[in-house]
Amino acid sequence: MNGSAHKAIGAAAGMTTLAIDDNPDKQSVAHNPLIATPLATLGGMLPDLLEPASRGPHHRQFCHSVVAFGAVGYGVYRTYKWEPQAEWEKGLRIAAIMIGVGYLSHLIADSSTPRGLPII
Ligand SMILES: [Zn+2]
Repeated sequence: MNGSAHKAIGAAAGMTTLAIDDNPDKQSVAHNPLIATPLATLGGMLPDLLEPASRGPHHRQFCHSVVAFGAVGYGVYRTYKWEPQAEWEKGLRIAAIMIGVGYLSHLIADSSTPRGLPII
């Protein structure tokens, strides 16, 4: 799975999440796809920034693990349920969700490759 595939998948995951987000902060500027989508793209690159493929065929370690997937997934879920009042908190909520969803999309994509993901 190369970097541009991960970017595209991350962006798509972010845009899908934006579209289904039913929180009342839809009017927040952070919901603007032009702001949110690059964050999801960044999230989609993050696991390989933390554990670069250039380190060799076994570069998938903790940041690529099933445990990390669960932890990030739980964090995204909790953030998704958060209903902040302040504008900056709304921005923070969307930014965290976008990066998190991009991150998850990366691990899902990597899990579909022959090498799969380590448990830890
Ligand atoms: Zn990866």
